[in-house]
Formats: sequence, structure tokens, C-alpha cells
Amino acid sequence: RSHLEAIEALNPRLNAFLTVTADAAMEAAKASDAKRRRGEAGPIEGVPLAIKDLFCTAGVRTTAASKILGNFVPPYESTVTANLLRDGAVFLGKVNLDEFAMGSSNATSAYGGVENPWTRSNDPDTALVPGGSSGGSAAAVAARLALGATATDTGGSIRQPAAFCGIAGIKPTYGRCSRWGTLAFASSLDQAGPVARTVEDCAILLRSMSGFDPKDSTSADIAVPDFAAACARGVKGLRIGVPREYRLDGMPQEIEALWQQGLDWLRQAGAEIVDISLPHTKYALPTYYIVAPAEASSNLARYDGVRYGERVDAGGDLKDLYERTRAAGFGAEVKRRIMIGTYVLSAGYYDAYYVKAQQVRALIKRDFDEAWGKVDAILTPATPSAAFAANEKQDDPVAMYLNDVFTVTANLAGLPGLAVPAGLDARGLPLGLQVIGKPFDEETVFAVGTAIE
Ligand code: GLN
Repeated sequence: RSHLEAIEALNPRLNAFLTVTADAAMEAAKASDAKRRRGEAGPIEGVPLAIKDLFCTAGVRTTAASKILGNFVPPYESTVTANLLRDGAVFLGKVNLDEFAMGSSNATSAYGGVENPWTRSNDPDTALVPGGSSGGSAAAVAARLALGATATDTGGSIRQPAAFCGIAGIKPTYGRCSRWGTLAFASSLDQAGPVARTVEDCAILLRSMSGFDPKDSTSADIAVPDFAAACARGVKGLRIGVPREYRLDGMPQEIEALWQQGLDWLRQAGAEIVDISLPHTKYALPTYYIVAPAEASSNLARYDGVRYGERVDAGGDLKDLYERTRAAGFGAEVKRRIMIGTYVLSAGYYDAYYVKAQQVRALIKRDFDEAWGKVDAILTPATPSAAFAANEKQDDPVAMYLNDVFTVTANLAGLPGLAVPAGLDARGLPLGLQVIGKPFDEETVFAVGTAIE
């Protein structure tokens, strides 16, 4: 009830929730109570969560923050949300995001932006963005509207908003969480994960979200460890890599200082710091912004007003129907991605862009494979800056894409990446560090994150 009251009080300003399922939440909470009294409580019994509006929820509108799905009520539950319900979670409602998870500020949502709870200004233009695409998830948790939230990360959408809102968030190894029932953006990069106030809370939620699912062909049939137990392991004897290519020209001094601080903490806790090289890092952003739009253009073909999507029919033939539906239903950023994706996949450019990007992606992955011979985990900044104002970068897509410079590599290589709140900038805004780990070694990532937090 206290979370629902907080939503009522703060959501009109934050715009984090798109749908609040208050009655269903109270019912579920009562059922949880009864289960607890019978001694049948699940691992997260009664924990109130916010669900990113990209996860299909049976009988509850699921929009992807797009007009084209404005009236879509899925007849089924995504595997990740079904797993959370199985373990006792109570859903408070669905939270805002960038349209189809494309963005870094939540400003591409068809239902308006989300305000970062760290905002001090009353002017919506200079209000801080929560980051994106999981801006609603991060803002809801930071403002105490939910204890935790589901999120997804294709190029940084869990880690960047977590860093901007001063909370923790993990993108697990590709294949750890089932993608079934999560609306697809770029299928070879998309991963679900939690955001929460602490690293340990993320560990608890991730354990419930994870697990093999025969309905997702890329789901990994591998045991899910007790991630929360791993948080207390400590870092004694661990080798922590510092990739020199992440030291960007023009990186703000406070980001560099934060990074050094994090390394000092780990050294003091008994870890060994090792300089490493990931030589193909500089190609990661251009590679990502070819692969992700290519896959998006293919995934979004289904929203044609016939198979899926709000139909706009004003006579004419089938092609007119498709055109009108997609012109009216998609926002500018989604259209930009579809056009880039279609271009790089077209017969004349496929080899020059798409195939080349796949080759570079393999090299980026190989850099990490080689690094794992020398280190157990890697520490980097999570973002190149703290949260920016709503009126910044919005008309410059490339400036927006540069936000993802530290996060896209983990998606391209399929690795787990954790954002940990680690300090404040000169204005008092939160900054995060990122721990990258070996495939399916989230346990070490959680141990390192806990030592920094
Ligand atoms: N900001 C990146 C993009 O716009 C990442 C988004 C995401 O991870 N979903 O593609």
C-alpha cells in the first residue's frame, strides 16, 4: 500500500508508470500474505516490483512505449515475469521506456519522458533525464515507487539508467534470462535483467528471473547459482582488469577520479589490478549501431497493422495500409533505426556494412576472450557523464549514441555487466562504475560490485 501511495503522489511528476495495476497488486499482496502464513512463501514473496513495458504481461496492456502497441493486451506472460510471479513477486504496474527500447534518455517514449528523481529544477526543459531505455524502471526504484524493477539491455539500457539514477543494475550473460515474451529490439543483443537499490537486491531478483527456457532457442541450459550468496565472497586474490582503451580523450576528470577510486577500493580489499588492452574497443559503437538497427528493422516488420499493431486503414491496397499504419504508429527514432537497418541489409551494402560489422563483432569478442586469460573481471566507468538535462542532445542522434560507449561492448560479446553506484559528480549527481565479467560468471561480478558499493 505504501508503494501504491508513493506512485499516486509522485508519478504525475515522474511519469515512470504507464499503467498502475493497483487492485491486482493488493489482491496479490493478500495472497502472498496468506502463503506466508501457511509457510509457503517463495524466495521473493510479496516483493513489490515495477515491470518495464516491454515484457508481455497476460491481460495487462503492453505498449513498448509505442503508439503502434497502444492497445495491445498480451494473452500470455513473458517467461521472465512468469518466473518472478512463481517466486512470489507482486507487480505494481508497467513502467515507461524509450520506444521499443531505442534510446538513452527515455525521451523517445510516445507517452512522454520520465523525470530523474535527482532533478532539482522545476523547469521540465532542464529537468534531468533518467537515462534509457529503462528510464521508468530506474526512476521508479530510485524514487522508492518500487523495491525493484525488470529492465532490458541491448546496448546499455539497464546499466546507463541505473548509473544516472544512483542505483544498481545488471545485464546478465546473453542466454541467462529467456527472451520469450519480451518484445524484441535486436535479438542477438537483447537481455533482461533487474535494477534495484543495492547489488544484493539485484542478485536476489536475477536468480528469480533466470533459467533455461525451451521457448527461447538462445536460452542457456546452465544451472542458476545463488547469486546473493556470491555477493559476500570478497575480492581477495581476484585480478581486476583496467582496459586502457576505455580511457577516452576528453573524458571528464571526475569520471577518471571515480574509476581510480573504485580501483583503490578493490586493491584495499585484496584484489590485484592489472592493465589490459581491448584493442578493438574503438569500433564497438559503430558496430553496435549497424547490428542493432539491422536486427531491429527485421524484428519490427511484424508491426504492419495486420499481424500486430494499431491499424490505420484509409482505403487503397495492402501496401497503403502498411505505410499508413507504420507512418502513424512509429516515432522518429524507431523510423531512423528501421531506415538504417534496411540500408545496411540491402543487397548493395550488405557486405560493406552488415557483414563487416559481424566480423568486427567477432574481433571485439576475441579481445575479451584473450583478456580472460589474465583477469577475472574488468572495471570501467558505466557512463561518460552523469545525467544530462532533458533539453540536451535530443536533436543530435549521434551525441545520444555516444552515451553507450562503455556499455555496448558487453552486449556485442554477450558478457555480464553490472552498474554500481559509486560516487557523485561536482553537482552532486550520481555516477556509476561498471563491472564486466566472464560468460556465466555473474557471481564474480556480484562479488566485485559489492566490494565497490
Ligand atoms: N542506447 C542504446 C540504443 O539506443 C541502447 C538501448 C538498449 O540497450 N535498449 O540502442
